[in-house]
Amino acid sequence: MIEICEVGPRDGLQNECKLIPTDIKAELITRLIDAGIRNIEAVSFVNPRVVPQMADAEELLKVLPRYKNVRYGGLVLSRSGLERALKTDIDFLHVVTTTSDSFNQKNAKRTVDQAVEELSKVIAEGTETGKGVAGVLGTAFGCPFEGEVPLTRVLSVAEKFIAAGCTEITLADTTGMANPIQVQTVVAAFYKQFGKEFSLGLHFHNTRGLGLANTLAGYQAGVTRFDSSIAGLGGCPFAPKAVGNVCTEDMVNMFRGMGVETGANLNQLLETAKWMEENMDRPLDGMLMKAGIA
Ligand code: ZN
Repeated sequence: MIEICEVGPRDGLQNECKLIPTDIKAELITRLIDAGIRNIEAVSFVNPRVVPQMADAEELLKVLPRYKNVRYGGLVLSRSGLERALKTDIDFLHVVTTTSDSFNQKNAKRTVDQAVEELSKVIAEGTETGKGVAGVLGTAFGCPFEGEVPLTRVLSVAEKFIAAGCTEITLADTTGMANPIQVQTVVAAFYKQFGKEFSLGLHFHNTRGLGLANTLAGYQAGVTRFDSSIAGLGGCPFAPKAVGNVCTEDMVNMFRGMGVETGANLNQLLETAKWMEENMDRPLDGMLMKAGIA
């Protein structure tokens, strides 16, 4: 069984130019739940001046429907993000750092070691308050400024996050640099160090067209949790460097064809993708939306 973590409402919309009102976001999430999605990265507790699309995090969480078996995650990148998150009923904190110094300096104005030190305290504090905490390691498969990010570096950040209290780790290919053989190597090394029981997820972007190939490689290496974005949201051609996630319904269609259960209703996902496209005023990147279900 595949566990989908739907990141369209966060990673997807964050990389779209058009500002989406809170009620449309709430309807999107409700539709995704109706289609069988149970794990949703709904918000980001990031500075609203930096990312206006995510400014309504608290407001959105207030209007979202609550179900026992549905989990909402919110991105936390700093102490101030933690403070905001702890005032909400968010289930899971997705604590993020990149693993490349150049990338982290540009995005968060600090080195990876500095980020890990601060975020370890954030993770410990989040855990103490009873929230679930997942660690997300960006640029885990390569950095646009540094090129290769050493595997030992990625694993050492994972080790520190796990020691601080993370019960899950997601390795993210932030700028779409991963290839399938590399995915198998990285996943094997992760399992060797932390054990196959540890919850590892993968987060791929379709930047260079390898999103589904990398997803399949991860699955064949033993991973069953994948991030994806409805309709492939997140690739607005007018936003600088914006790149879409792996498309949820395309991924579900792939697993369905392989006879692997995802718990999602493909027809409903497809309807949701088309509905979202109408709201975005631009053609979205999903392939199944264009081709239809075979
Ligand atoms: Zn991403």
